[in-house]
Amino acid sequence: MTARQKAIEAISSHKVTSTQNYLEHAGEDIYGSYVFHEAAQRQFLAKAVFKKLRRTIEGIEPFDPAIADAVAQGVKEWAMAHGATHYTHWFVPMTGATAEKHDSFLNPAGEGQTIAEFSGKVLLQGEPDASSFPSGGIRATFEARGYTAWDVTSPIFLQVEPNGVTLTIPTAFVSYTGEALDHKIPLLRSQEALGKQALRVLRWFGNSTSSRVFTNIGPEQEYFLVDRRLAEQRPDILLAGRTLFGAPSPKGQELEDQYFGAIRERILAFMMDLDRELWRLGIPSKTRHNEVAPGQFEMAPVYESASVGSDHNMLVMSVMKRLAPQHGLALLMHEKPFKGVNGSGKHNNWSMGTDDGENLLEPGRDPHANAQFLAVLAAIIRGVHTHADLLRATVADAGNDHRLGANEAPPAIVSIFLGEQLEDVVMQLESGVASSSKKSGKIELGVSSLPVLPMDATDRNRTSPFAFTGNKFEFRAVGSSAPIYWPQTVLNTIVADSMEKLADDLEKLAPNDMAGLSKILSAIVKEHKQVLFSGNGYSEEWHAEAAKRGLPNNKSTVDALPALETEKAKKVFSKFGVLSERELAARAEINWERYVKVQNIEANCAIEMAKTMILPATAKYLAEISVAASVSKGVKQVSDKVAALADKLVDGIHALEKAHHGAHEAGSLHAEAKTYKEKVIPAQEALREVVDELETLVSDELWPLPKYRELLFQY
Ligand code: ADP
Ligand code: MG
Repeated sequence: MTARQKAIEAISSHKVTSTQNYLEHAGEDIYGSYVFHEAAQRQFLAKAVFKKLRRTIEGIEPFDPAIADAVAQGVKEWAMAHGATHYTHWFVPMTGATAEKHDSFLNPAGEGQTIAEFSGKVLLQGEPDASSFPSGGIRATFEARGYTAWDVTSPIFLQVEPNGVTLTIPTAFVSYTGEALDHKIPLLRSQEALGKQALRVLRWFGNSTSSRVFTNIGPEQEYFLVDRRLAEQRPDILLAGRTLFGAPSPKGQELEDQYFGAIRERILAFMMDLDRELWRLGIPSKTRHNEVAPGQFEMAPVYESASVGSDHNMLVMSVMKRLAPQHGLALLMHEKPFKGVNGSGKHNNWSMGTDDGENLLEPGRDPHANAQFLAVLAAIIRGVHTHADLLRATVADAGNDHRLGANEAPPAIVSIFLGEQLEDVVMQLESGVASSSKKSGKIELGVSSLPVLPMDATDRNRTSPFAFTGNKFEFRAVGSSAPIYWPQTVLNTIVADSMEKLADDLEKLAPNDMAGLSKILSAIVKEHKQVLFSGNGYSEEWHAEAAKRGLPNNKSTVDALPALETEKAKKVFSKFGVLSERELAARAEINWERYVKVQNIEANCAIEMAKTMILPATAKYLAEISVAASVSKGVKQVSDKVAALADKLVDGIHALEKAHHGAHEAGSLHAEAKTYKEKVIPAQEALREVVDELETLVSDELWPLPKYRELLFQY
């Protein structure tokens, strides 16, 4: 029996085992049990310390170092009561994965004795060696010093594993020179920038009660699960996170029976496990369902503040990765694990709110009469139009290149969908005052026993990258594996830029000068309405139309990343102190490097698999049918075809090797990336075509790689 057959036999007798005592741990009783949340803080901290800490967490005052030791003591007691022996500063370096280094609480105290120690200093600041994290040129290898600093706004939590517990402190990561080396710091800076400008706008509208404006996010997370025993037989899945070869399965997603379909027992067991783990971590996991492609699923949390929500999304991904093997599953977080079926994204729902509970994106029943909402909306339209290229660059990477613009995900053209009602109101604004809002209706089902449904004023548009969905925008172009700090950072910054202009203009007007306001909004709409589009974003016509409107259409990472290197980009980031020129340049550099490295890994992997797995299987098959070919014309035909493909395979390997070599020789990083895009990827695609055709001819028994039909349907 081959390894594939063994795996399939094992899958067919796989038993789903229960991993959660769901009656005892129903939900609300476990929610946040791994988190040093408000109730735990109250219990483990002296009253005065507790009160002061809360004021920092709620953004009212900066952290007072005088309470650091007392807080650390309380945190330690709480953690040790839960069995913790170690602590770690947890951060998100520019690798895009989280990082942590564990230290134990124990300190030797004389012969055979230890005491558990955890000081305020250790809580506040860590010093991981920064030299082995990407810095985009900010740090040389010999300049190793970097610091982690406690992010008081993100809850401290426990990582609970079968053999012990680690106290985990979310932190920001900076270099010795004070430059951001992580994804968190720029996000926090962008929040402050946006909050400040938005508050100026609110003040003009007479709001005197709110003291802070911040952003909320709800990232919907798509992912694939396949059987681990099959996945581990594929070097491409292990190393590249996606299949580099694979003929289409005879059945794909065409019956449309997967989306929202009944969830298989084994998958549901994973999801239930996941939900409980997330609840324990205080992550408000809410929605779970089958997605469009076979083997594809989605989870969505309830929205939270942008920085906590972004941290939580990192945790969601890592908890998924940890739990999947316990269910005999492999998690594929890649944007496009399988050619020919849908890939995975992360819909990033985004809104702005005040500390006293107002959502600035809530249009109300009569949006035309809601002047403040219209002003905020106009500012967003201007920000997104002015910096569409930047927003596009935030979702550019090798994985997402397989998805964007592929008629399953939004196009690479950034446009805004407002829906019929709002678009109508915005068009009225152009010519002066908006005086009416199209009304929502009712949906009669024609069956007396069924309820009459209220109809939303606006339909949805799944093809738009940036869609208004009721009281929030949904940025739908983010890749499934990407951390979401960076897209948020850019969104906040470009909206802050536009809000600043709006506030400058408003502050020149007398309070309540609605005619003056109309003039400002009308000018914004006139200049920026080109970015509004409610048609089919997948269509050819839109590409032509967008070009006419002058909207950027940066189809690949190589086309998109230069947007980070323009004067316009430098200006907008440095103006608000979100990123200095050096910090921005570092980010661009890291993105280019990452693209090149991913393509390099994929090319290496494809070459090795073709040489050591596909070619031997092909040769073996030719030998196996050679006798039959000498007596059967039909078999001879097949044998000739396979022999010809074997030659093509070897040629294809050589061509890819040559192109790959060319990339290494290209010189600059930009030139290397360009060579990967223009030469290596096409060579790899050509090789794939040969391999995929061989897969349809070579004996199933000899084929060394688990096939699409097995990966997508056998779990
Ligand atoms: P939709 O059906 O429009 O996709 P859902 O209700 O399913 O909306 O929510 C999708 C995600 O958007 C969820 O994570 C949800 O918590 C989040 N969300 C809802 N309202 C807001 C808001 N005002 N700001 C940010 N995210 C929000
Ligand atoms: Mg949605």
